[in-house]
Amino acid sequence: MRHAAEESLLRELRFLKGVGPRRAGELERAGLRTVDDLLHRFPIRFEDRSQLSRSSELQSGEVASLSGEVVSSGLLRTRRRGFSLFEMLVRDEAGMFRVVWLNQPFLKDVFSSGQQVAFYGKVEWRDPGGLRLTNPQYELVGGGDGDEDEGLHTGRIVPIYERIGSLTTKQLRRLVHEVLRELPPPLEDPLPAGVRQRHALPGRLDALWASHFPASGISLDLLNRFRSPAQVRLILEELFLFQLGLGLRRRARADERGPRLIKVDDRVRRSALAVLPFRLTPGQKTALRDIVDDMCRPRPMNRLLQGDVGCGKTIVALLAALVAMENGLQVAFMAPTELLAEQHNLSIRSRLAPSRFRVMLLTGSAGAKARREAVAAIETGTVDLVVGTHALAQREIRFRELGLVVIDEQHRFGVLQRATLRDKGLRPDVLVMTATPIPRTLALTSYGDLDVSLIRDLPPGRRPVRTKVEPESRREVVYEFVQRRLREGRQAYVVYPLVEESAKIDLKAATAMAETLSARFSEYAVGLLHGRMKPEERNAVMHRFAVGKVRLLVSTTVVEVGVDVPNATVMVVEHAERFGLAQLHQLRGRVGRGAHQSYCRLLCQEPLSDMARARLKAVAGTTDGFEIAEQDLRLRGPGEILGTRQSGVPTLRVAHLIRDHDLMETARREAFAAIENGGVAAQLLGRLDAIWTERFGLAGVG
Ligand code: ADP
Ligand code: MG
Repeated sequence: MRHAAEESLLRELRFLKGVGPRRAGELERAGLRTVDDLLHRFPIRFEDRSQLSRSSELQSGEVASLSGEVVSSGLLRTRRRGFSLFEMLVRDEAGMFRVVWLNQPFLKDVFSSGQQVAFYGKVEWRDPGGLRLTNPQYELVGGGDGDEDEGLHTGRIVPIYERIGSLTTKQLRRLVHEVLRELPPPLEDPLPAGVRQRHALPGRLDALWASHFPASGISLDLLNRFRSPAQVRLILEELFLFQLGLGLRRRARADERGPRLIKVDDRVRRSALAVLPFRLTPGQKTALRDIVDDMCRPRPMNRLLQGDVGCGKTIVALLAALVAMENGLQVAFMAPTELLAEQHNLSIRSRLAPSRFRVMLLTGSAGAKARREAVAAIETGTVDLVVGTHALAQREIRFRELGLVVIDEQHRFGVLQRATLRDKGLRPDVLVMTATPIPRTLALTSYGDLDVSLIRDLPPGRRPVRTKVEPESRREVVYEFVQRRLREGRQAYVVYPLVEESAKIDLKAATAMAETLSARFSEYAVGLLHGRMKPEERNAVMHRFAVGKVRLLVSTTVVEVGVDVPNATVMVVEHAERFGLAQLHQLRGRVGRGAHQSYCRLLCQEPLSDMARARLKAVAGTTDGFEIAEQDLRLRGPGEILGTRQSGVPTLRVAHLIRDHDLMETARREAFAAIENGGVAAQLLGRLDAIWTERFGLAGVG
């Protein structure tokens, strides 16, 4: 059952007075079908016409709202052909000023003497000529088009809307006003009263009014930053509903029981210390404590371990694995690529050598026999830790007693596989690790149903990688640089992009490059690594690089994630312009892992697109993965970064993921608390699934 307010919101715009079929069509094309749609298309900015500037008091360079009466106007001749100047003389209370538009001759039919016009733009003082506005925004106020509601467009803070088809800002203003006037007050408010009080927020109807027609006196700056109480309220409402859904998901899982209680005693601690080759950084310690605390609770862990490349997530995960295994449980360790699984297998195996635990590798390319054996060993429990790719998530694989799943480099997996694993019936603890520093807001969104631990420090002695963008013309300079580092005993990577459509061509390029470089660096062994090699071949090359026999490794992007060779200090990226921001940062993260200064050279083919240039500049400008992630979010938007649908990023119409990250945190806190203390109306909970699907474009809460 819907009540009057909701009915009015769902009314279609085409039935409104003054909206004919033509305008309805224009509105619809802009995505506005209902009253609700219209009310959620907010002004792009506000102008304060209650306190107009006086023309005589303005300084050059100021951006101002001015209003006045047209005294005279005319098209000026200029000597340049195809170039026109339309000039107006305008009088306000303080005096006269000039307004000039370039190349808009049609304006001569827009203005006439005696007309009141509001302007918004940058002013300058000219000598001679006095105050002048060039190409300002303008709006005819009063007169002309039979306007009764004059008070709407002047003498107040006025909303400026982006034009829709033939609908001007003024017409939209009138339409929105009309619609608001007819809106009955809603009966219920999705935001609990407590939340509204704590944050001093207005009710929903008031908020809609004040987001379009704010009372005078409120700061224009707040309004234009979308931070007036009314605007904050609407943002918070949207984010609250979103976080409420995440909270419900979490709670649904909280009711599940973990398979077995985990204990950490001195024996477990000793066993962990025995495999620990160094002291943990404070960040690693805190993360490990979060994780182990989770594991000791009866409900399963769902935690995201976030940390920049090289911060040392693997050892933290391994210690958590040890805790599980000491408690008699099995561990699945999932990597996104075979290469990485193979690497993890080797390093975990050697780390665990002093322990009694058995490690095994299972990837998609295992032979039938090896596979059968592995499946049997996992099922009977003769293996304690299995390293693998997504092959581990397949149905035929049943664990005797799976206690912990570690998923490395989450963004490659997606939410789906996470769910598959969880559904293996055992409800194991799940630890997701990601080296793509996800901007905080996205983490609260896409991974919002996970708890988050963050490692912000790096192991001691690391020096930031020095990065330079180099055009193709400086290739030889780059080679000489590489040569010097090799001579000093270091190692280097040369990485080629591999794009889906032309995988073959790129592979050929990488192969050819390996040959060229073998000749160029003839004193040193050059290796080639790519995705089409058999695992044994790949392992062999990787191993030779890891022990320093191969000094220069030419590779496609398979080397991107996780590979760890501290003596490698140079990363040359070929066609750097083809890589994404996060990817470049990942690649660079392959160096700078030991005590030596490391370098990254981004070779690029000119000319560069603006986007590519911005990316390269961002990577060269900082080594802070979080900053890079924020920039990536700005450059590409959240959908591009994570792939909207499957990553669970909602479509938002009020809130903005970058602008509103603080409110996302507030909404999360409030929503989770409201669930905890039963402060959410049952009716709202019942509708949430529909809201998630219809409004946010997500699969629903369930
Ligand atoms: P990532 O977080 O990118 O997965 P790794 O786990 O591969 O990072 O660790 C990067 C390197 O740092 C590895 O060589 C690892 O052995 C080393 N390392 C990790 N933690 C420490 C520490 N606390 N002290 C010294 N070296 C460490
Ligand atoms: Mg790693």
